[in-house]
Formats: sequence, C-alpha cells, structure tokens
Amino acid sequence: MSFIRLSFKLKEVFFVNKFIRVNMETLEVTVGTVPEKYAGLGGRALTSNFVNDEVKPTCHPLGKNNKVIIAPGLLSGTTAPNSGRLSVGAKSPLTGTIKESNTGGSSSQMLAKMGIKALVIEGMPKEDKFYIIKVTMDGVTIEEAPSQILGGCGNYEAIKVLNEKYGNHVGMALTGPAGEYRLPSANISFKDPDGNIRSAGRGGLGAVLGSKKVKGIVIDSTGASSVPIADPEKFKAASKVFAKALLDHPVAGQGLAAYGTDVLVNILNEAGGLPANNFTAGRIDHNDNISGETMNATITERGGEGKVSHGCHKGCIIRCSQWYPDKQGKYITSGFEYETIWGLGADGGIKDLDIIAYIDRAMDDVGVDSIETAVAVATAMDGGLIPWGDGEAVLKIVQEMAKPTPLARIIASGTSVVGKVCGLFRVPVVKDQGIPAYDPRSVKGIGLTYATTTMGADHTAGYCISGNILKVGADIDPLKKEGQVEYARAMQIGTAAIDSSGMCLFVYFGIADNPGGYQALIDMINAQYGLELTADDLDTLGKAVLKVEKDFNTRAGFTNHHDRLPEFMEYEPLPPHNEVWNFTPEEIDEVWNF
Ligand code: SF4
Repeated sequence: MSFIRLSFKLKEVFFVNKFIRVNMETLEVTVGTVPEKYAGLGGRALTSNFVNDEVKPTCHPLGKNNKVIIAPGLLSGTTAPNSGRLSVGAKSPLTGTIKESNTGGSSSQMLAKMGIKALVIEGMPKEDKFYIIKVTMDGVTIEEAPSQILGGCGNYEAIKVLNEKYGNHVGMALTGPAGEYRLPSANISFKDPDGNIRSAGRGGLGAVLGSKKVKGIVIDSTGASSVPIADPEKFKAASKVFAKALLDHPVAGQGLAAYGTDVLVNILNEAGGLPANNFTAGRIDHNDNISGETMNATITERGGEGKVSHGCHKGCIIRCSQWYPDKQGKYITSGFEYETIWGLGADGGIKDLDIIAYIDRAMDDVGVDSIETAVAVATAMDGGLIPWGDGEAVLKIVQEMAKPTPLARIIASGTSVVGKVCGLFRVPVVKDQGIPAYDPRSVKGIGLTYATTTMGADHTAGYCISGNILKVGADIDPLKKEGQVEYARAMQIGTAAIDSSGMCLFVYFGIADNPGGYQALIDMINAQYGLELTADDLDTLGKAVLKVEKDFNTRAGFTNHHDRLPEFMEYEPLPPHNEVWNFTPEEIDEVWNF
C-alpha cells in the first residue's frame, strides 16, 4: 500500500462550507469555498448545476471529461427527520443524459457535519490502479486500494476489509465489481449505519466512478461538529410539526413501516397497473407470493435477525426499509424494494420471495442497479436468453457479474442493450433506461413522468402514483388523460425541490395534504440558514433545477422526440383494462410548458 499525497492538512478549513475537488489524473486535492453561484444550493440543485456548468454535454460518460459530484442536501446533517439523503451527479453512461442518483446511508450526514458541501471527482489516472479517497477532518488523502477488494470482490466483503482498516465508524461509497468493469447498470454502493448497503442506483454512475479508478470513498467524520443552525428554537419547533405530519399520515406513518414499499404489489395489481411478463399484462395471480403483506408475515414468523421496519439512515422516522432473513433467521438483504420485487417477481415471473431476496443481495454485492437489472432480466426472458421465472438462473447470472461472462455483461448493460441483442421491439425504456414497476397505459400520469423527466424512465422524478393510485395529494383517474399533464409537471417540479433539500422523497406523503407539514419543511430550511423562503421560492427552485437539467440534455443532443414512451405501448393494449398509451406528442410536450 503506498501513500500517494496528503494535499492539505488544515483542520480549521473544514468548519466552514467546503467544495473539494479530487483530480484523479494528477492525484491532487484542492479545497475551496463554495463558488458564489452555488451558494444556497444543495443536493440535486447543486449536482445538476455543477454538471451543467462543468461537464461537456457531448463527452463520453466514461472518458476523462465526465465528472462525479457528491452533495448532501440542504438539511442533511441536522436533526430534521428523514434529511439524510445524498445526491450523486454526473453524465450517465446508461442514458447519455444528466443524472442525479439519490441514496440513503451514513455519508450525507457525515459530509454535512464536516462542512463539506460537495466532493467532486474529475480526471482519470494515468496508471491502471484503483484508489481509495479518504476524507477526514484532517484532510483528504488518495491511497491505493487494498488488492483483496479488487477484481471481483463483492461489496459486503469490501466493507468488511475497509472496516478493519479504517474502523467500523466510517462512512463509505464503493464501486462494486460491476463498476470496476464499467458496466452501464453499475451503481455506487453506500454503507448504512448498520454496515449494510444502500445504493445510488440509477444511471450507471458506478461505472463513471470505476472509470476514474475510484474503488471507494471512506468518510471519517470524527471531530466534526454539529451543523450550525441560525435559529435553533424555530428549527426545533418546525421539526416537531414536520415529524408529526409524517407520523400521522397513513402511508408515511403506518403503511411503509409495516410493509415497506412492497405494499404496492397488491395495490398496483388491483389497479391493473403491475407490469407482468415483460409488460404484456397488468395483473398477476401470484401476487400473494411476493406482496408486502407476505414479506411482513415472513419476517415476523422467522424472527432472528429479521426486522419489519428499519431506517436507511439515522433520523429516518418513516422506516420503509427492513431486514429480510432466511429460514434460519439470518440476514439476507435490506432495502428490499417494491420495484426490485416487481421486476423479478411480476415482470420476470419469479414466484419465490426468498430467491428474489438472494438476487437482491447479489445485486447489492456486485453493485448493479436492482431496477435496471430486473427490467433487463425480464426483457431477456422475453428474448429467450433466460427461462421465464427461473430465479436460480438469474441468481447465477447476477453472481457472474463479479467476473462477468458475456451473458452477465449483456444483462448488466441494461434493458436497451438486451432488447437489441434479442431482436425485440417490446423494449420498455425511455432514453435507454428501463421503465420501473408502474405501467403507463393504466397509470397514465406516471407515463408522462417517464417520458419527460430529464433522467430517462424514473418513477422517483415525479411520483404520479401518489395522486393516480394512492390518492395522496390529488385524486386523478389513472385511466384518463384529464389533469395528468398538469399533475406530472407539478410533481416533477416539487420533486426537484425535495431532492435538493436532502429529504427522502417519501416525506411527500406526509406533507402533500397537510399545509402545516409543508410549511414546517420550509421553516426548517429558513431556521437553519436564517432565510425567509416561501413555498413560491421552493417552486422556483424546482423549476430552475429542471431547466438546468434540460439545458444539459439539449446540448447533449436530446430533443422532445426523445421524450416519448416506447412505441409498442401505443398499439399493444394492456390487460385487464386493455388500455394503450394515448397521449399525443403535443400533449406530452406540454409538461415542459412552464
Ligand atoms: S423512508 Fe425508507 S428510503 Fe426514506 S429515508 Fe427512511 S428507510 Fe430510507
């Protein structure tokens, strides 16, 4: 192990907001104050503005001109409930668009407490070596990565090795084997407070970190102070109101804690919007095998290390995560999300929740996006590459991504590549990103989000399931077009603002119908920074973030013709409602009319 460079050792500079750049070509670190133009930005607002300013839109995502930026949200590091989310930005190798990928784990709160507004990684090393970037209150160092965590070592083992080297208390971001091989579905894996894995999943940003030969970022916040609050009393009062709004809501306060996001299997199945067998049906009859209710009963019955409810970062009070155990009660996986279970269980027809859990663990271990991989798997089943419903075959292929065989490489290259390899027309992607768990033909609002978001198909960019299906914040008929354009626009604007705050997206459920809860969110930001922002200001922030992202995509060559759903959805009716996608191009383009 060779020590490369200690670029600075100036403890006091960390007590103010810092903007850190790590140049992987020169292996130098520079620490500056936050540029004036980024003052007041955090999370997605900061990552997207930075990418638009500094990344050449036409660059190759795996070349030296791409940059990765990691930024805590505005409220991260405080005691505000659910404020520990982290934004990662870059140009995506999967979509070619700008990308903000959002994750839980410990890193956001640690970076915020250390006074670090952004960590930028740029350039590419000259030597074919992988490195660890270590961030402490004493400075930033770049060290060669231990050889035993390279070349196919899974993330769980890598965390163990790095815990032994740096201490259990450190935060981590890891490039898994898939990222080392620069596969387009590679995620960035973040250690959570229990030493398990959370992912900045979508868009292949692990491949970008892998191209820069960063195996991991280790964050040691020992010695960091708490985040300064301009008006602590006001903050505390607002935080209390906000927490009550979350806990009082039936979805945010009860449903997600009991059944996780997998509560949606039965809900979407009932609504006829649960895509099955590569988007050829909207309902399955084995929903009980894979539902949130079954997951809850299984965890409860098995006991042991199982936990029905769990937070992905300290201070999460919604606690939609869980620890899913095996038959002996031993931990298999956590953050076992609806979209993953849907992709493998409904779209791919795997009827056993245990094998889906093992696949989920394997995906975390090799570091691939569990949504993109699941959609690619179902597409590969449609194309005859994998037998329908064969969980053991899928588990083997995912495990092979650690030292990828040709088939493992194809699946980890994403749904669009699989569709081409199989000669299919039914390829569920927008801007080459797999369409998640909600069929646009029978939940039309989410189709508008998929089509128009700057990120490629991404339900979290404007979660119209809320008003279409759950009837939270709005009540819009999912099968009708009326009101959907305005709703998809409003949801994307609001989401861009929430993603900038460091809040988990699920806080939306608690504040959508509770003006006091929403005001409390604004009050917390105002109390922290000594501001007087209004709801209109957050609306303006959300719009500005979207426009910046759109500007990048336009300069990268994207036009409104890319804001379209796959053509097969226009002529293949989806049972049981037998609906097609029926928005005109002009109607879709109206989403961007603001
Ligand atoms: S609600 Fe779920 S996703 Fe959100 S912060 Fe908590 S555990 Fe993480």
